[in-house]
Amino acid sequence: MSKPALPRRSVIVGAAATVIGWNTVGRSWAVEAPTDSPAEAPSGGAPAGSPAADAALAALPRLDGTLVADPGTLARFGGDFGHLVTAAPRAVLRPGSVRDVATLVGFARRHRIPVAMNGQSGTGTTAELESHSSYGQAEVRGGVAIDARGLDRIIRITPGRAVVEAGVTWAQLTDAALAQGWMPPCLTDYLHLSVGGTLSVGGIGGGVQRYGFQVDTVESVDVVTGTGELVTASASANRELFEAVLGGGGQAGIIVRATLRLVRARERALVVNLFYDDLSAYLADQQKVMLERRFDLQVGDVSRNAAGTGWRYKVEGVVHYDGAAAPDRAELVRGLRCVAADTTFTDQTAREYAYRVDAFAGYLQSAGLWSRPKPWMSLFLPASTAETFTREALALLTPEDLGAGLLLFYPFRTDVFTRPMTVMPDEPVGFHFDLLSFPFPGADHAAALRRNRRLYDRAVQLGGKRYLIGAIPDVTRADWRRHYGAGWGRAVAAKRRFDPAGILTPGQGIHS
Ligand SMILES: Cc1cc2nc3c(=O)[nH]c(=O)nc-3n(C[C@H](O)[C@H](O)[C@H](O)COP(=O)(O)OP(=O)(O)OC[C@H]3O[C@@H](n4cnc5c(N)ncnc54)[C@H](O)[C@@H]3O)c2cc1C
Repeated sequence: MSKPALPRRSVIVGAAATVIGWNTVGRSWAVEAPTDSPAEAPSGGAPAGSPAADAALAALPRLDGTLVADPGTLARFGGDFGHLVTAAPRAVLRPGSVRDVATLVGFARRHRIPVAMNGQSGTGTTAELESHSSYGQAEVRGGVAIDARGLDRIIRITPGRAVVEAGVTWAQLTDAALAQGWMPPCLTDYLHLSVGGTLSVGGIGGGVQRYGFQVDTVESVDVVTGTGELVTASASANRELFEAVLGGGGQAGIIVRATLRLVRARERALVVNLFYDDLSAYLADQQKVMLERRFDLQVGDVSRNAAGTGWRYKVEGVVHYDGAAAPDRAELVRGLRCVAADTTFTDQTAREYAYRVDAFAGYLQSAGLWSRPKPWMSLFLPASTAETFTREALALLTPEDLGAGLLLFYPFRTDVFTRPMTVMPDEPVGFHFDLLSFPFPGADHAAALRRNRRLYDRAVQLGGKRYLIGAIPDVTRADWRRHYGAGWGRAVAAKRRFDPAGILTPGQGIHS
């Protein structure tokens, strides 16, 4: 086979090489050496032009975007926010269109090349764009990473609805929606995450009590399946695929577009902070205000008390309102067992509240803690065992474990969840236990991972589930089977049907 003539736009000359196709014998990207240097391939690439390589060359199909293989880009896509594990791809696709994703996945399927979408989220100004996963979930060793930022168009916003590409961040969408008087109903705490990334894991925030996960607010998705087909899926069309990709960890397809529900934006947010020194009172009040629907949004966290002698518990409740119709503050705290003297109220715009984490993120970035290893772990606990688990966990956790971070902790009703892949404890009420550590230099990350594993095992014993994003080591197939429970068969069937070659998103480790 002679070397194929390639459209110029489909290749990028990196520091060392131009991708021109796939060497089907050597199972590596075939590269063309720069004319002024000896033929040499980046990791695993075979120099084109040698008779053996030419005979085995499968030409790269035409792309609207670019496929790059320069060492800098490969290294960047080989890591993530967690900074705990690395697995570099051998090429990175910056899609110029949705069609590029379908073309690339179709090609990858034929040649059994692993592929994963990488959210490349973040602000891109104060910190690098990167996958915001904690433990290599978007990494794809030796395969192709797809840069979600290549698909970052807000296609349209109409009353009650937004159509966006998967690489759009929730921050971009929030601002575009606010400009027209709308808001996504359920925002993550940190807005600079990709829509496709959070829809692939669930997407939780203070709106969970009313709206469920972000996946519960999706009307339809356009998905490239593992066979390279582009399919529109919703609750009424291609439902199996719809349910397999929402919270499905990228196992059944790559979400390229989503139609999302919006709610009317309110002008202002009254934020109430309630503090507790007693865990039992805290848990009871958290559930009480949730079941009474006292707040529009409700989160909470646990941190060390000012004296450093124990833990302090916080409820953060938010009421949105317009104009002068401010809520009655006394009513919001009536009958609660918090430390009344410590209660605070902050009145701000709804947008200021939505962006509240940016200031904290800015502090962590300037302190150099943002880019250090972070053994995060996110669990969902049944209400009946939440206190037992939390007492045990807090006895184990040290101030060094948290570093400059915190433990998010708040309840939700489980009847708000509608998507089968986001598995939850089997009780009417659950708690989100979200360990967001920002350890200081010198922390023992191997020990932190062992602690995560121990806490995960205990949570499972007590009826808990994990969130797909965390850093939990040594997860086996048996662990996944237990995680999905009665839904395991559905997960396996969806994988077989929509990704028969098993090439999609290996970093989750679910079907490997
Ligand atoms: C500072 C910070 C704050 C956070 N706050 C929250 C929060 O409030 N609530 C919450 O729920 N989560 C939160 N997260 C976790 C976040 O949801 C995950 O990191 C999630 O992975 C989204 O990040 P991402 O957009 O970078 O996607 P990635 O991490 O790159 O992707 C996540 C997974 O989905 C796959 N994937 C990505 N895009 C697609 C796609 N379009 N189609 C199919 N598969 C895809 C990836 O391969 C990977 O397996 C936070 C993370 C950080 C670092």
